[in-house]
Amino acid sequence: MPGEKTTLIILDVHPWRESSFLVYCFSHAHGLLHCLAKGIRRAKKTGTVIERGSIVEALVYSKPGRELHTLGSIQPALFFKSIRTDLGKSALRDVAFEIMLKSVRDPDPHPELYDALIGLLTELNASEPATIFPFALWRWIDVHVRLLGYGIDTRICARCGADHLAQTGGTLHYERGAIVCSTCSEPGPARYLPPASLRVLGANKIDERVVKREIAAAHALRITRLLIGYCGHHFEFRAEAASLAFLEDVFGVCYG
Ligand SMILES: [Zn+2]
Repeated sequence: MPGEKTTLIILDVHPWRESSFLVYCFSHAHGLLHCLAKGIRRAKKTGTVIERGSIVEALVYSKPGRELHTLGSIQPALFFKSIRTDLGKSALRDVAFEIMLKSVRDPDPHPELYDALIGLLTELNASEPATIFPFALWRWIDVHVRLLGYGIDTRICARCGADHLAQTGGTLHYERGAIVCSTCSEPGPARYLPPASLRVLGANKIDERVVKREIAAAHALRITRLLIGYCGHHFEFRAEAASLAFLEDVFGVCYG
């Protein structure tokens, strides 16, 4: 049976026996794949060929009805060097990967999700750390949930239709995937999104340095948790993931 040459984003890697790895990866044509990568020597000095966050080209061998595929002839294609060496960027990437793994469970191809994730990795890799942290993750979540049918409507208040959210901010309504203005929403700041954060989610061209001046670090962390919680609500996972703990650890260092 011939393998099919495929480009893969490596989302998660676990060593398996002496020289193999169990890998979760995402491809343009096949979506999420769980694979066994056999016979990979773990080079002691240079690390491994298969590394979380990298892009590889490989032959994928699938058998109908099997959930675990086999990878062969693995060649590294792209390492995103700047993400690997930056705590903040790798923390954002890991949260995105975890959301990806928890929100996509079907075996269908999702080329648009693949493209969005490549977009995030490319942006993280190319940007100055101080300008994207953590906004690149917010924007990616906004796109990711929309592509999966749970987009957040940030334009108008979901109750009264007021269109001044860009000036006033509003409360994120998990169930409706919408924002409710301050006049209509119940008191309680837990799910409040300030105007600057709605500009980030609106995916407009924004100056993130300006946004950063408007949102204090504590609120930026709260909003990040809020958006991850939104994913957890719709994709049924609990938000206190390992990747979130790491992001919280580096937040104070990276936000500024
Ligand atoms: Zn309203």
